[in-house]
Amino acid sequence: MARLPGTPVATEPYRLVGATLLDGTLGDPVPDAEIEVDHGRIVYAGPRRRRDLAGVRVIDVAGGHLMPGFVDAHVHLSMSTWDPVETQRAWFPEEHVVAALGNLRSTVDAGVTTARDLSGLTPGYRSRIAAGDVVGPRLHLAIAMLSPTGGHADPVLANGSLPLWAERATTPGWAVVDTVDEVVKAVRALVRTGADVVKVCASGGMSSPHDDPSDRGLPEEHVAAIVAEMGGRQGQPVAAHAQNDEGARAAVLGGVASIEHGYELSDQTIALMLDRGTVLVPTLSTLLRRGAGEDDPASARRTNARESIRRAIAAGVPVALGTDAGIHVHGRNLTEIGHLVRAGLSPLAAVHAGTLAGARLLRLDDQLGSLQAGKLADFTVTAVDPLARPDALAEPDAIRLVAQGGRVMKDLDALG
Ligand SMILES: [Zn+2]
Repeated sequence: MARLPGTPVATEPYRLVGATLLDGTLGDPVPDAEIEVDHGRIVYAGPRRRRDLAGVRVIDVAGGHLMPGFVDAHVHLSMSTWDPVETQRAWFPEEHVVAALGNLRSTVDAGVTTARDLSGLTPGYRSRIAAGDVVGPRLHLAIAMLSPTGGHADPVLANGSLPLWAERATTPGWAVVDTVDEVVKAVRALVRTGADVVKVCASGGMSSPHDDPSDRGLPEEHVAAIVAEMGGRQGQPVAAHAQNDEGARAAVLGGVASIEHGYELSDQTIALMLDRGTVLVPTLSTLLRRGAGEDDPASARRTNARESIRRAIAAGVPVALGTDAGIHVHGRNLTEIGHLVRAGLSPLAAVHAGTLAGARLLRLDDQLGSLQAGKLADFTVTAVDPLARPDALAEPDAIRLVAQGGRVMKDLDALG
């Protein structure tokens, strides 16, 4: 069982009534619905009950849409888009911490109550959120990512020096591995530090010093060694950064739970993913973000990438929502919902990708991801109908109410 990242819970019972309920499954929306919350858990979810429950407070959210708290399966909360990177180089360590705290808060304000940080964030944040000292999503952490020497995770510059971010890291932000022994040792060290998930670079990527997306990453044999190592440990999944098809195929054959990006998937690799149940996390918010304009040299790559994701979705590959926020701006995570709809998911399926499918990928779906009796009361109430206007969810003001374990974390209408 995967580790459940905690948050404090509300102890007082209450009922939330009147909203249209989209429960995170692919079931039909329920108009004029009700959920009842007690000790942080849902004890009832369904049509509004026409009876009073003595002593249970009623919160009226008529006109809103009630959904589970969203799961963003791919973020980098230690990376900030607040200031240009050159300015950030001059930051003191505490400025990085303050920036990360702001990123955590804006992620919750965007309706994301659980997030998977795929390298960069350290376990202290997870602990402080669990203790209630800091507002932030429940966190699953990769801590660092694995690549070969000179690959996507290797920050060492040609002259052997390190960039500043790598020098100031309190835990290793990367792990360079070239043999099976090194792979196993790196994975064990990450688990010791507190990793919930291992992120492997199965291809090259952008903005690393020595490679690009067409380059190779770790081979299938090394991916399989990671999957075998993690298989015996609380069932933690392995996520593969894979931008080219060869890397994605090696990762799928090696047994990863998810392909992150998947910008150049061949039909054969898509068939393999269907066969193995491999989840795709398309990170379209980063691919299609403003500033990376259609006229830039990467635009042919963008067009191909959108087409790759459309084909995977049309074939029926399971999708979980992930934004790569940290490159995409924090706090607008639900931008991805509109992108997923344009890539071929129905709006209801896009909400499902951002809720129950994400929780399933994190192996937390027995606790999170849908609004059903017995689960933790992580929920959002939006002012817009996500089925009619999926793009409007991107605006933080559209997200009116957010709760974790029944505890209200954002409340624009002063209902709580
Ligand atoms: Zn990423």
